[in-house]
Amino acid sequence: MTRLTEDLQQLDQLTARLSQWCQAFVQTLPDRGVAVPGDPALAADTLEDNGAGAAAAFDQFVRTIAPFLSASAGPRYLGFVTGGTTPAAMLADWLVAATDQNVSSPGDSISTAVELQVMRWLRALFVLPEHFEGLLTTGATASNLLGILCGRQFAGLQQNIDIAASGLAQTQIAVFSATAHASSIKSLSLAGLGRDRLTQIDCLPGTEAMDVASLRAALEASSCPGKIVLASAGTVTGTDFDDLQAIAALCRQHHAWLHVDGAFGLFSRLLPEYRHLSEGIELADSITSDAHKWLNVPYDCGIFFTRHTQLLQQTCSVAAPYLATGVDTQALMDWGIENSRRFRALPVWMTLKAYGRKGYRDLVAQNCHQAAHLADWIEASPDYQLLAPCKLNVVIFKPRVDDAEVGRTLRRINASGKVFMTPGFWQGSSGIRAAFSNWRTTQADMEIICDVLKAAMRE
Ligand SMILES: *Cc1c(COP(=O)(O)O)cnc(C)c1O
Repeated sequence: MTRLTEDLQQLDQLTARLSQWCQAFVQTLPDRGVAVPGDPALAADTLEDNGAGAAAAFDQFVRTIAPFLSASAGPRYLGFVTGGTTPAAMLADWLVAATDQNVSSPGDSISTAVELQVMRWLRALFVLPEHFEGLLTTGATASNLLGILCGRQFAGLQQNIDIAASGLAQTQIAVFSATAHASSIKSLSLAGLGRDRLTQIDCLPGTEAMDVASLRAALEASSCPGKIVLASAGTVTGTDFDDLQAIAALCRQHHAWLHVDGAFGLFSRLLPEYRHLSEGIELADSITSDAHKWLNVPYDCGIFFTRHTQLLQQTCSVAAPYLATGVDTQALMDWGIENSRRFRALPVWMTLKAYGRKGYRDLVAQNCHQAAHLADWIEASPDYQLLAPCKLNVVIFKPRVDDAEVGRTLRRINASGKVFMTPGFWQGSSGIRAAFSNWRTTQADMEIICDVLKAAMRE
């Protein structure tokens, strides 16, 4: 009997153990070290000829890997914009592994239809018009890349060139942005346009939001027949929103593709009082968001919307007749980067079913409230000062003493093991950045966070 069949026969004990371990991990997340630096010397453990079976491999995981996992899904991990995972999303992700669907083309399974349904639900959640369709991606980076690839195809067509077919050689494309996310800059490299192609547009003073007058001047000055504008709905530090209405009007006038990165900022649309921030987004050509951030589904899961699915299909279509299925559901491998695709729609489906629009409104409102609370505390603190007003779910601040203390203070905060924050940079000044995007953060956590900040200055 092989290890594989043995494991299959023991599946009930194995899954029971796994379920127990996962429950304990999730329940104790608030008490775990939030970040676990350290090098467990994995390199010495070489690949063996004979496998040990799943139970022994699991033991080894528990001993050698588990102790070094972060509590990034827990309530006091405030680095980047990290999110967490809801119970329903976690269960669904187990189902994804157990059912192992390949969501590349329809015809053998309901999985493609589920992803298309989830995209309709997300469109409704974000209050976007029905002309937006799309698919799930590996993250906002992949969604930004898709937006840029579509923009590139669009810019080629303006010059009567089908870039997907004949490449970039004969085309001229200019790209404009004020505060493009690092992943969009990387996407310019990946798309063969190059990072240096970007025309830097000024920001409005004291913000990361695009100065529309500066964009207008740049578009008017450009003789390039193909143009792409990368706009932001929520920049990573200032959580600033570009004036999408004005930018969309300029894009229309100058035949430019408008891509909007709303990796976490798009979630502001769940709350009516924030919806004005992204007004005009309905005029975008493509939109990025992330589900593994504020939707609190497990990594990895990004969101891509476009109003030009034909163009998306032209850009990504897979010319392989053996893949034809004879059904009229959209094959998602023709809309995305990968051919083989994980059933990442299921955690999104399950969490939206489980908690609904109201659950997510409450989550976003709670995180914004927590960020505002921390910002107020910092403003009143003798030790720290805010670098920028808190507008959504991100707080950027630094010690009141000299700037050289920023790095050391951040190290002390993170060394507490109770809180994890990441460095930020604001208007030429380095700072500490805390982003709230986890459903489990409570008032008690806010007190721990403030205590850690206080202690970090006393040391
Ligand atoms: C996080 C983020 C990205 C990159 O997202 P990934 O999911 O890490 O690929 C892009 N843009 C913005 C605004 C982000 O916050």
